Amino acid sequence: MPASRVRLLVMNAALGPLDYRVPEGMDVEHGSVVVAPLGPRQVTGIVWEDERLPTDPVPENKLRPLLGVLEVPPVRAELRRLIEWTAEYYVAPLAAVARMVIASGGALRGPATMTEYRLTGGAPERMTPQRQQAIEALEGEQATIRELSGLAGVSEAVLRGLVNQGVLEPVEVDVDRPYPRAHADYHQPDLSADQREVSDRLVEAVQARKFAPILLDGVTGSGKTETYFEAIAAAIAADRQVLVMLPEIALTENFLSRFEARFGAAPVVWHSSLKSTERRRAWRAIASGEAQVVVGARSALFLPYANLGLIVVDEAHEISFKQDEGVRYNARDVAVMRARFEKMPVILASATPALESLHMADTGIYEKLVLPSRFGGAQLPDIQLVDLTEEKPGSGAWISPPLRRALFDRLEKGEQSLLFLNRRGYAPLTLCRHCGFRFQCPNCSAWLVEHRLSKRLACHHCGHETQPPETCPDCGEPDCLVACGPGVERIADEVAEMLPDARVAVVTSDTLNSPEKAAEFVAMAEAKAIDVIVGTQLVTKGFHFPELTLVGVIDADLGLEGGDLRAAERTYQQVAQVAGRAGRGAKPGEVLIQTRHPEAPVIAALEAGDRDAFYEAETEARRYAGAPPFGRWAAIIISSEDEREAREAANRLGDTRPHLDDVQVLGPAPAPLALLRNRYRFRLLLNARRSADLQQVIRHWLSGIDHPPGVRIGVDIDPYSF
Ligand code: ADP
Ligand code: ZN
Repeated sequence: MPASRVRLLVMNAALGPLDYRVPEGMDVEHGSVVVAPLGPRQVTGIVWEDERLPTDPVPENKLRPLLGVLEVPPVRAELRRLIEWTAEYYVAPLAAVARMVIASGGALRGPATMTEYRLTGGAPERMTPQRQQAIEALEGEQATIRELSGLAGVSEAVLRGLVNQGVLEPVEVDVDRPYPRAHADYHQPDLSADQREVSDRLVEAVQARKFAPILLDGVTGSGKTETYFEAIAAAIAADRQVLVMLPEIALTENFLSRFEARFGAAPVVWHSSLKSTERRRAWRAIASGEAQVVVGARSALFLPYANLGLIVVDEAHEISFKQDEGVRYNARDVAVMRARFEKMPVILASATPALESLHMADTGIYEKLVLPSRFGGAQLPDIQLVDLTEEKPGSGAWISPPLRRALFDRLEKGEQSLLFLNRRGYAPLTLCRHCGFRFQCPNCSAWLVEHRLSKRLACHHCGHETQPPETCPDCGEPDCLVACGPGVERIADEVAEMLPDARVAVVTSDTLNSPEKAAEFVAMAEAKAIDVIVGTQLVTKGFHFPELTLVGVIDADLGLEGGDLRAAERTYQQVAQVAGRAGRGAKPGEVLIQTRHPEAPVIAALEAGDRDAFYEAETEARRYAGAPPFGRWAAIIISSEDEREAREAANRLGDTRPHLDDVQVLGPAPAPLALLRNRYRFRLLLNARRSADLQQVIRHWLSGIDHPPGVRIGVDIDPYSF
């Protein structure tokens, strides 16, 4: 191949690799990020020379020239290998994976400053409702015009009008300004003997610069964070970058302040809702090597670190590491592969590891480091079951007499309580008491959830919202709507009625929707300005409140409904994690678990505090079902806005299913959410033995069939919920 011809992976998932001509005087190498013409447009692409890719038949003299090379480091071979592995393993287009590396190509281009706008405090000559709306919404904000337009819900033209009138003023932002430096020895804590042993091993692994997958298995409050901070310190001292992945980026506030106390500077934060200036700044610092420690959501995993030396996945069991749209990958597993390709340790930290991770440790593939007890001698809480079939809460109520008594008792003693229910909003279903009409999402097969705090009926799948009507939309009866079942807001009401003096806080992604709100909540809880916290799974994560001594689980059976493969494991993890919030200080904790099935193995194991018994039973169940880690599952989701088109496409696929000994195909059947965001969804499930080349089977099967353009086929390897 002549040097002037290069193959490009363009950032368009529908296209294969394309060839271009390198103009005279332009320097490109493998992995160079370039701009190329595509039809009338310009696209970003990565120079991707690989004999295995299909050749582009365009003759030499018809090749179009590259337009330019972006001033970013070329994507290195190890990262290209990760992209290839991810695309192969998850049966995704290469370009779709590579896009995550570029992370919005636009962020790469352009100068070192960007213009943002903010309010000057002045008023426009003529006030209009839209201007009024913009001015109210943008108080304290500073961002690009496009972002402000999204924030304020007005057009960019309205904002430009405000700029012309001097109501908004431009601010030049230097996107290359340096981040404060973290120092390995800023504040070194005294570690316990157990912690010291673990941290010595972690430090050694960082210094060895070899692939080392490590499961850091320690009960809640055992000091895992403190321990892996020492590994981070070792990487900083060796001038290597660190990636820490956290499941819930809204809740990083607590982590950030601990980090700053330990290292004297905040880490670089990366998540999908960063402003474009922050995004560009972070991306450049990561690619140049200036960013020392990056704390991010799963999207931080594919960034082009110049010099990565350690990956930490905290709360590694969390399902939010699994991406369920676009490229459906599990960031925990891809993190291990990245560590392998780039030769570094990866630490998976959890008090309730995924069964797959424990299995890897038990079979010697992962190294297991254990912190067996809570730091500082704090005791694990005492766990009791409340059998709801005997201790009935009373009609329209969800808190049983024993839990009620315990709440009274804590309030009297001035201690804090936490009630856990994994349901946002006031009630999961609203119906008309007159005609039985149920409020359903127009775009999804799901009920609308009543949110009383924000006075909305909302779909938790597509975001559709409406105001609760005063009359039934079906029969016209006024004041007829009734709430069915509990959500956290309703539990909070029940507490407020029962304990009128208690200060109650509802903690969900609705109420803690920004880092500021999260910080405010933590400050109030720490200052003992909150007596009872009522929250969803968000409260199971990372919080450390020494005065919190009672945890009540409102409905432990909730997660066990439905035929989900991981239901038992998830229930175990959630309840164990939320229980772990109790008694983290000097005072012992108590946990009351309300259930209608005290005999269910997972509930019994929780009561006995017998993790091993749970994992053993779960292991046998998985082995029997041919489920991971013993067999493998994959789902193929066929969707279209036209139900018949989707059904026909699913049937066509079903008719051509492979007939193999080691892969079984089930379906097609309507997917669990048969309508999602206006798309009808059908599903085929594959169950394979470990020996089968599942990906190859799927790729071969799917490549044989053409579908109408409105049909989308998504592959989900190792799906989490079905
Ligand atoms: P985990 O991550 O295992 O849940 P953490 O690292 O959050 O545990 O530790 C639990 C609590 O104990 C935190 O408040 C932490 O600050 C404290 N802690 C842990 N190790 C130490 C130590 N060596 N010195 C002082 N405090 C510690
Ligand atoms: Zn919806």
